[in-house]
Parts: sequence; structure tokens; C-alpha cells
Amino acid sequence: MADLAENASPAAVTDRPVGGPLVVLSGVEKHFGPLHVLQHVDLTVHRGEVVVVIGPSGSGKSTLCRTINRLETIDSGTITIDGRELPAEGRDLARLRADVGMVFQSFNLFAHKTVLENVTLGPVRAKGVKRSVAKDRAMELLRRVGVADQAHKLPAQLSGGQQQRVAIARALAMDPKVMLFDEPTSALDPEMINEVLDVMVGLAREGMTMLVVTHEMGFARRAAHRVVFMDGGQVVEEADPETFFTAPTSTRARDFLSKIL
Ligand code: ADP
Ligand code: MG
Repeated sequence: MADLAENASPAAVTDRPVGGPLVVLSGVEKHFGPLHVLQHVDLTVHRGEVVVVIGPSGSGKSTLCRTINRLETIDSGTITIDGRELPAEGRDLARLRADVGMVFQSFNLFAHKTVLENVTLGPVRAKGVKRSVAKDRAMELLRRVGVADQAHKLPAQLSGGQQQRVAIARALAMDPKVMLFDEPTSALDPEMINEVLDVMVGLAREGMTMLVVTHEMGFARRAAHRVVFMDGGQVVEEADPETFFTAPTSTRARDFLSKIL
């Protein structure tokens, strides 16, 4: 299998056509006490599509990600993944959750397990994959993200960029239908950001369906089919990256862009 980072060239990945709806949020509402964090969010991510979500701190981006795999419940509305509504609990929830890979800002690796064990455990425990099979696949994934030589170390012995690439491999080991990234490079030293983004661009190029919360506009321009701008719990605007960055229509998006660009 090709090394994901090696595949990354500046060419756009977005010429690749996208398929039908895979993740569909419809009229999603979420409160934390008096705080209305998601306000009637409608959002569709199509098969093979890369959607970048941007917006100010506190606008609901992380909550949006967390509702998609039910780390948070929703108050009303629906979320379907591959045509099935997310159940509240039970075995169906576990199965649907396995369809959604998640990569967080803080890498969240098991600190006392080796890199290889981190990537092997999920398929063995949650999917009943034979350990030897899971190990072979884990090594293949670690090669893909360029950290196979670190397989027998503990996470703390790796750089932040390497740990985040392990976290990506761990999510991929579950064979998710969609990958969610919540500010995957925000906790990294600047020199490590690109090694993680390159892996993500490689994934996009291979056709992975991705929802990516990030402020990395270079990544959005390189890999996103669509940019979704959130503010105050609402999807305020969505457009292809070129249109969004050159001609945002809402005042709120223009204000936000003027601060970060
Ligand atoms: P973003 O990721 O865009 O910065 P979040 O989704 O993390 O935004 O947060 C949206 C709002 O919800 C913020 O005002 C945040 O303080 C609040 N919030 C997030 N999680 C919780 C929680 N578990 N309990 C109460 N308020 C929360
Ligand atoms: Mg957040």
C-alpha cells in the first residue's frame, strides 16, 4: 500500500467526484443548560467528500463532531450515517460508532501501550479480529502514515506529529466509513503540522470521506470539496474553498477571515 504522505502533491484532490449522502444531519439542536450550542444544523457529507469546518472558538465545531458519533446526545433533529439513524445506545450504537473514526486535538493514545498495541486493540476488542491479523494490518497502517519504525515504543517517546499519525492509523484500523478530525494539528509544534496534514491529504486523495475542523486554510484549499463556516452554533455559510476564501457572502465569515488570514 502506498505511503500516504508520499502521495501528497500540491495538485487539487477535489476533481475526484463524490457520491451520495453518507452523513446527514437534519435540524440538529443541542443545548448545554441555557446555552444553545447547535441551532438547527443541516449538514450533509457525501461519500468521498472532504468537508472542512471553520469558525470562531466556541461556535460549536467540536460539539458538532461529537454528536456525529454520539459522544454527545442531541436534543432534536436526526443524524444518519449511511442511511441509518444513530441509536441512543446498545449494540447498534457500538456498530455505528465503529463506522466513524475520530482524531482529536490531543492525541488520546493509550499511554501505557505500545504504538502497535494502540492500533491493534480496537479491531481485536470491538470487532473480534484475530490478534495476528490485527497486528499485520496495524503494521501496514503504521507504514502508511510513516511511523512503522516506532511501532514498539510508547506514545510518550514519539514526537507530537508522530503521535497524531499513530492516532490516525488507530482510527483507520477500524475501517471507518467516515473520518472526523477535530483540530488535529492545533496542539502541534509548527514544524510538525505538515507531516500530519500530508497524511490527511493522502487519505483524501484515496477517497476517504472526511469532516475536518481546522484553521489550516492551506489544507482547505488543497483538499476540501467544501468549506462550512459556523458561528454561534449555526452553519452560516458553505461554499467551495475558492469561493469561500475569495468571496465570502456573510459579514460574519468576512470578519472571521479578516482575523485569521
Ligand atoms: P468550538 O469547538 O467551535 O470551539 P465547542 O463545540 O467546543 O466549540 O463549544 C461550543 C459551546 O458549548 C461553547 O460555548 C462551550 O463552552 C460550550 N460547551 C462545550 N462543551 C460543553 C459541555 N460539556 N458543557 C457545557 N458547555 C459546553
Ligand atoms: Mg473545538
